[in-house]
Amino acid sequence: PETITVGELAERMKKPAAEVIKKLMLLGIMASVNENLDFDTASLIAEELGCTFEKEIILTDEEKLFNDVEDAPESLKPRSPVVVVMGHVDHGKTSLLDCIRNTNVTEGEFGGITQHIGAYRVRVGDKKITFLDTPGHEAFTAMRARGALVTDIAILVVAADDGIMPQTIEAINHARAAEVSIIVAINKIDKEGANPDRVRQELTEHGLVPEEWGGDTICVEVSAKKGTNIDQLLEMVLLVAEMKELKANPDRPAKGTVIEAQLDKGRGPVASVLVQNGTLRVGDLVVAGTAMGHVRAMNDDKGRSVKKAGPSIPVEILGLSEVPEGGDVFYVVEDERKARAVVENRKFKEKQERQKKTTTVSLDNLFEQI
Ligand code: GDP
Ligand code: MG
Repeated sequence: PETITVGELAERMKKPAAEVIKKLMLLGIMASVNENLDFDTASLIAEELGCTFEKEIILTDEEKLFNDVEDAPESLKPRSPVVVVMGHVDHGKTSLLDCIRNTNVTEGEFGGITQHIGAYRVRVGDKKITFLDTPGHEAFTAMRARGALVTDIAILVVAADDGIMPQTIEAINHARAAEVSIIVAINKIDKEGANPDRVRQELTEHGLVPEEWGGDTICVEVSAKKGTNIDQLLEMVLLVAEMKELKANPDRPAKGTVIEAQLDKGRGPVASVLVQNGTLRVGDLVVAGTAMGHVRAMNDDKGRSVKKAGPSIPVEILGLSEVPEGGDVFYVVEDERKARAVVENRKFKEKQERQKKTTTVSLDNLFEQI
């Protein structure tokens, strides 16, 4: 909506809100700090107070400032799938991710030892798959709560000796709500007491009918411990990915999501990001949440320094002004002035939220005292 509150307008002009309210009164408008002003009124007041009012910075949806335009169909190229591993605790998520990573590090590949950047890529034949390996589905849940859709396929790990458990059901619900395709890895088939058919039965009870039982849920019996059928599981991931016809436009400024981020003593804020569209390059100006900055350096999941990263590629970036949050969307922005305005606007809103919370708390305290 093309409006701005009196308080926000005052803050942007670095003037006291009372001054804005006074000017409005002179125009016959009685307004409180939280009152919404339309663009015409706001620009009039700004002018009266000797400020230039830039509509496109203050009033339009901030995302429009960026490059979020629809891609022409002919600009879209195939991209590799992004996969998350979900499931109940101790069913083997970490083991499966480790197993996939270790068996698919191409011999002679530089470094070879993978770097933890929250995601990694493996090669299967002439194709690649990106796996998120942020701790379990907490990261996925957090990202989804913030509206970030990063994954195409979820591998649901179910231990064959344990069956469907509460967190399995939670994972199913999350994947469904996010409209992510589910592939089931029935794990620990090497274990005594493993009962894959019981898992199939329970899956059916939760609306996931296995293919071999006439449904459309792909199930693969695996052992993450012994490495059994991992190749087959990866083949299924590629099959599902192919059916989804995943595409992106590599020839545009990048957009994606922050997977995780932290402050590194020597390197400053470090953010692992997944490029979802476009190509990210060293030197690009990036905005992520309330962080911004030119990308000073990028590293891939093998710890190699890279100059660019296209769709579905995770990289670690250096050069941000502060640490963004996992799930923050990042954009490459061309206009530094606009980027700064958006970041300031976001910070202002955050501050407002915080103040609102403090006010509520103190009012409660007041009543308690009475
Ligand atoms: P997560 O909590 O889902 O990440 O589960 P982990 O990967 O940490 O695995 C939990 C336990 O199950 C560990 O002791 C693993 O060694 C064991 N485990 C995982 N996969 C298998 C498997 O395929 N076979 C057997 N026998 N044990 C497994
Ligand atoms: Mg784990």
